[in-house]
Amino acid sequence: MEIDVDVLIKKIPAINVFNRAKNIALLSQFYIITGGDEYLRNIFIEYVISSIFCKDQEKPCRKCLECQKIMNGTNVDVVYFGNDKENIKKEQVQKIIETVITKPFEYNEKIVVVNNFENVSENNQNLLLKILEELPTYVIVLFVSDSMLKILPTIQSRARIITLTNFTNEDLREIFRNENCLKQIECSNGKINNIYKFLANKNFTKYYDFATRLCEAKHIDLLEIIAFFEEYKNDIELILEIIQNIAESKISAGLNQSYLIKLSKTTTKQINLLNTNINKNIIIDQIPVMIYRSENANIRDTI
Ligand SMILES: [Zn+2]
Repeated sequence: MEIDVDVLIKKIPAINVFNRAKNIALLSQFYIITGGDEYLRNIFIEYVISSIFCKDQEKPCRKCLECQKIMNGTNVDVVYFGNDKENIKKEQVQKIIETVITKPFEYNEKIVVVNNFENVSENNQNLLLKILEELPTYVIVLFVSDSMLKILPTIQSRARIITLTNFTNEDLREIFRNENCLKQIECSNGKINNIYKFLANKNFTKYYDFATRLCEAKHIDLLEIIAFFEEYKNDIELILEIIQNIAESKISAGLNQSYLIKLSKTTTKQINLLNTNINKNIIIDQIPVMIYRSENANIRDTI
């Protein structure tokens, strides 16, 4: 899969903040990075860290030894935590503190990245407060989180918060211009993670065609909808997401038909129910009828 990283970088507004990274003295010591998807956050962080260590004039060059070491994870003074998406436990929080207070081994700077920071409990976040108040001058700390809601206000107030935004479909077409993935882009909701997820699914085109027919009000028969969801029930969340994203991209392109709004609301609601409810089967049984009703909604009976 070939993507144009140079084009991608230019499409990230928050990068401008870090063009100052060429002068480390101007950087803040503590950032929280949020928004966008995981792929975008990783690219952004790699850019920032490479900028700090790169020896080239044009930072980051992504070619010099220092840039290489960031890309292949062998810079001993860049330390990552929280990569496995599991709860970050007390021992790991203590390890984070220890790492922060230990001087760099090889360089003048040290970077500590904590991914999935939303998985740190409130109690454990409190343990970090003191060190965040008086960070040693050699360290830059980056907390990465897909939700600010789970981060204590006392932590947030000490950080510089960088919020990344999703790409437009136009941006994505440019970034992926060497790849055949226009359909994946159309239902990606601006997220590169989604494009990879759809490319990896061998039934994607079937789901896309089905979702497109729904979103073009082709009035699919209820029995066909039931049969479709029965056949592909292992991917039910993915199918709902594709319908939702296609409906939303049509709405944002100015097609405000009531059935599209209804399809978008119904799929959002069903996805939430599937995520929060223990008894998934009951919800799965309702989905075809809910989709059928939404697709056939007209002005009279919507919203
Ligand atoms: Zn470099």
